[in-house]
Amino acid sequence: MEDAARIAAELYGIEGAAIPLPSERDQNFRVGDFVLKIANAGESRAVLELQNAAMARVRRGPVGAEGLEWPRVIPASSGAEISEAGGHLVRLLSWIPGQCMGDAAPHSPELLASLGRALARIDLALAGFDHPAAHRTLHWDLRQAEQARLHMGLLEEWQRRLVEPIFEEWRKIDWARLPQSVIHADANDYNVVVRDGRVVSILDFGDVVYTATVCDLAVALAYAMLGKADPLQAAEQVTAGYEEVRPLSNAEREVLGPLAAARLAMSVCYCAWHTRQAPENEYLRISNRPAWELLARLDRQKLLARRQRHLGPSLSISYREPLHMVRGEGAYLYDAAGRAYLDCVNNVAHVGHCHPRVVRAAAEQMARLNTNTRYLDENLVEYIERLAATLPEPLRVVYLVCSGSEANELALRLARAHTGREGVLVMDTAYHGNTNALIDISPYKFNGPGGRGRPAHVTVLPVPGAAERPEIPDGLAAFFCESALSCAGQVILPPGYLREMYGKAREAGGVCVADEVQTGFGRAGSHFWMFETQGVVPDIVTMGKPIGNGHPMGAVVTTPEIAASFANGMEYFNTFGGNPVSCAVGLAVLDVIRDEGLQENARATGEYLIAGLRELQQRHGSITDVRGLGLFLGFEMKTEREATSLVNRMKDRGVLLSTDGPRHNVIKIKPPIVFGLREADVLLGNLGAGGLGPGAGEAHE
Ligand code: PMP
Repeated sequence: MEDAARIAAELYGIEGAAIPLPSERDQNFRVGDFVLKIANAGESRAVLELQNAAMARVRRGPVGAEGLEWPRVIPASSGAEISEAGGHLVRLLSWIPGQCMGDAAPHSPELLASLGRALARIDLALAGFDHPAAHRTLHWDLRQAEQARLHMGLLEEWQRRLVEPIFEEWRKIDWARLPQSVIHADANDYNVVVRDGRVVSILDFGDVVYTATVCDLAVALAYAMLGKADPLQAAEQVTAGYEEVRPLSNAEREVLGPLAAARLAMSVCYCAWHTRQAPENEYLRISNRPAWELLARLDRQKLLARRQRHLGPSLSISYREPLHMVRGEGAYLYDAAGRAYLDCVNNVAHVGHCHPRVVRAAAEQMARLNTNTRYLDENLVEYIERLAATLPEPLRVVYLVCSGSEANELALRLARAHTGREGVLVMDTAYHGNTNALIDISPYKFNGPGGRGRPAHVTVLPVPGAAERPEIPDGLAAFFCESALSCAGQVILPPGYLREMYGKAREAGGVCVADEVQTGFGRAGSHFWMFETQGVVPDIVTMGKPIGNGHPMGAVVTTPEIAASFANGMEYFNTFGGNPVSCAVGLAVLDVIRDEGLQENARATGEYLIAGLRELQQRHGSITDVRGLGLFLGFEMKTEREATSLVNRMKDRGVLLSTDGPRHNVIKIKPPIVFGLREADVLLGNLGAGGLGPGAGEAHE
């Protein structure tokens, strides 16, 4: 720095402190109203002459009207525009006051448009300009993407997945169709000067090169999209400004997106390379994280559009800004930008996402044999033995199916075959599955949007706590009930509730179906099955979700008596249900629950979470109730709006939660049951640290 000040004094006769400015290649210093540029030792004089000539050409362009200013080259006392000091080539440029665009966020549409206009002015001014040094091979030139691609090996797998298709698109570009000229080629946020909400200059001609003219805009777009909630809109705003001054040809317009993406891909590849070479250079990393986030966001927008084109529109997607998960491990999911999310809601990945024992069991059996259940098979026999052993007598007859819906559908058939009746008693807000017959017994659906109301054969029981108790009608085939209520908002049934209701249902001639699709397999902590916490033995138990840790499986277990009623000659065959792969997976899940003590983990973590949530409830008026058992938990907020906004804020903090309940104001917590105290602390910490917002007391301070 003292050197820089001395050089400025000796060569240019200017006195003052030399303040270093960030730069990739050169050393730049601000001295008074000037910028002293000390070139990298490798920089050739010809390239500096090119830069100076390009700047001079732009200064002569049709400016003024836009209020644009361009740096001026100040000759040394000797008269030279390029001097030498300590083996380096040195130049002095005029200082252009303002703020750099990188520091001027948020970027208004007008600011973005003015960037486009300023850049188009440069391109117009440089049209027809040429210089021998401009015809160089510059690794940042978008035609050189292949050079950047060489470093892809340094990237992690998720990173390669994002950039590889971009390089593929780049390869399809027909360069011969694109007009060429000398361009600035580096309108990144830190080279753009802003004053009064408008771009007044674009600095640093260090990357000036002869290439396709449209590359100038593509580079600017790559940077203008960084950090934007809607990057494509930002790109459109810059482009619109650009086209006010220099309209693009169709060929240019077509390649703009692929070129902007290619610039980002090149940037992250070079960054990986430079970080390996010079881990201490912070400047190199400045745009790295936002670049990955932008690449992931662009990828998501593309995926979302493709999804919407072909996927049935009755399926929603989570979050205002959908997530794109690419990997899971334990209680964590990882998105396409490599960000970790603590999964507090997935009750399917029961023993942890992608548990290696489950994955291995599936892969090995898949590689050996997969067929239907009409052959003898050890996996099948062992699995039904093991599953039956988790249940009290006389629940010992097993049917293997492929989903919770199939399980409940079969349970309904069993009940109707056994009783010869049709009627069904269900809990309010219950959901039992997606088939015709199950939508009819799911108030959550038939009373919800698009529902056709309660069918005549169905009676709805209010969630305990509500006052009225309807009469149980004649003709009852089954009482379907989750052993703790999920869609109703994570409701734990009061002690004795199922005993009383099972008694009444049986008195009315019905059978009792425990829907354990969400609640089974140790989640309750104190017991393996949630119905056990109520001291009852159902006639039919249905299972799904956690049973295969993500492999599509379901099961129905019933009594020999009911099974006999169903065996009326009509075969029950299920093509995939109980296949050797599913049975191997089911066995691995049971093994892991036992070997890793996961039921006990659910108990201990659940208690810890309840205590932590109650503590938060004391501090935050927004929580009105905390409830649950084991890792089946929920807390209630005053309004749906509060709950939804909490879920979105927690997502931004890397914690996945969701809402449930008839008023959508219950936050449900039903994570993989590997969720331990460490994960509980992450959840509670994030809820306390900002998720819930200011505490009741703090809000008034
Ligand atoms: N029963 C309950 C209680 C459920 O929560 C669900 C699924 N949400 C089902 C049945 C249906 O299971 P599946 O989606 O596997 O068909």
